[in-house]
Amino acid sequence: MEQQVSAVDVAVSPLQKFQEYLATRKMRVTPERTAIVEEVFSYHEHFEAEELVERLTMQQTVRRVSRSTVYRTLNYLEEAGLLRKVARTNDREVYEHDYGYEQHDHLICRNCNTLIEFNNDEISRMLEQVAAANGFVMEGHRLEVHGLCEACSRPRRHPKLGLI
Ligand SMILES: [Zn+2]
Ligand SMILES: [Zn+2]
Repeated sequence: MEQQVSAVDVAVSPLQKFQEYLATRKMRVTPERTAIVEEVFSYHEHFEAEELVERLTMQQTVRRVSRSTVYRTLNYLEEAGLLRKVARTNDREVYEHDYGYEQHDHLICRNCNTLIEFNNDEISRMLEQVAAANGFVMEGHRLEVHGLCEACSRPRRHPKLGLI
């Protein structure tokens, strides 16, 4: 059955989890890194690295966060298991929260780049079976379905010629 994808309760906040990761890597918790994590987790949306750079630039903060710091921090957040990359068809990549958010899959429109999230228990069960048949212990999965969304697959009406 298809379900809405929703947030799950986590005992440790994303920032705390990131601080733990930095500690294990012997890296410092800088105000820049903190600002990036807070901005990233301020709302749940898929985003591109450049969009995040823009959002941070628009903020009236005392410290400027450089583009390279944003990109580096995004890599750390990925390694820390807080973010994951979702590939899009036109070579652009978007990030999404991988922490505090349910396992889900994506339908990706190659025309308008819309990402539709879904959660289907049957798919998970089938993958468990495939894994088990191969003596494989499944820990998770990510499925990307490529094609056209409802709006983009609808035949377009030309004002003079009618359907084309
Ligand atoms: Zn579309
Ligand atoms: Zn998603």
